[in-house]
Amino acid sequence: MIQTLMEESTIAALRQRIKEARQAGKTIGFVPTMGYLHDGHASLVRAAREQADFVVMSIFVNPLQFGPNEDLSRYPRDLEHDRKVAKAAGVDLLFTPSVEEMYPSRVLTNITVSQVSEPLCGKSRPGHFDGVATVVMKLFQIVQPDLAFFGQKDAQQVAVVEQMVRDLSVPVQIVRCPIIREEDGLAMSSRNVYLNEEERKQATILYQTLQHVRSSIVTKQPLDRIIAEMKNMISTQPLADIDYAEILRYPDLTAVKEWKSGEQVLVALAVRFGRTRLIDNMILTIS
Ligand code: AMP
Repeated sequence: MIQTLMEESTIAALRQRIKEARQAGKTIGFVPTMGYLHDGHASLVRAAREQADFVVMSIFVNPLQFGPNEDLSRYPRDLEHDRKVAKAAGVDLLFTPSVEEMYPSRVLTNITVSQVSEPLCGKSRPGHFDGVATVVMKLFQIVQPDLAFFGQKDAQQVAVVEQMVRDLSVPVQIVRCPIIREEDGLAMSSRNVYLNEEERKQATILYQTLQHVRSSIVTKQPLDRIIAEMKNMISTQPLADIDYAEILRYPDLTAVKEWKSGEQVLVALAVRFGRTRLIDNMILTIS
């Protein structure tokens, strides 16, 4: 069967399409993105195809989640390419609103998820997760999906969204999807195109560091020693500038005081290469 890709850029038209899918008895799976699609995004669509009857993807570079000195204006965009990837991955309906469509007037309502928004990227990017929570809630109101798919690549984002959904009884099931990587281990990201050749080579240190400390965590070595080990390893790459290297409990993102069997921890890295800030992480269950 030839897959057709519908596309709408207004909220009203999108709602009409989704209403028709619902009337046909279909369940709705939703994949929110900022576009410049790669196989990480496509993997969320494939998961959505398996678990829902009708797959909606949004492409919206959300100004609310960018700080004043961040890369909003130069964030990579290529809608033609995105349409091809979305179609091939199995999206039924693409939502491509303008900023004016999403925010016709100044936004005065903000969602703040405390605690989980505060450490890691919340510390380096003040207000970022308010912007994320607010746009995700707005998109949930527009699409009203049964299931929504998020990548573990942004593990703190998933924690924030799950907490918001629980706190506000949003009728959606959040599905976490694994990190998709390049062959050399670098986590796929729209921002990888910013890297020059040398930065791209050195960026593989993030994944190598995560792999390296796995056994230290499994064997319950002292936390401080593991953090130091991670920082030392990343610093072997001259272009790497560490923003953070931390281990927190997951998904509540509180401090790890001791290694407790059965608990999940998040090993999280944010490292700058030139002007590009990369994140990567690993979730482990303590044995
Ligand atoms: P973005 O377009 O970067 O906002 O990402 C949209 C969604 O795709 C988020 O849920 C991300 O976590 C997810 N995503 C981005 N990169 C990857 C990846 N390498 N593997 C899995 N999911 C990803």
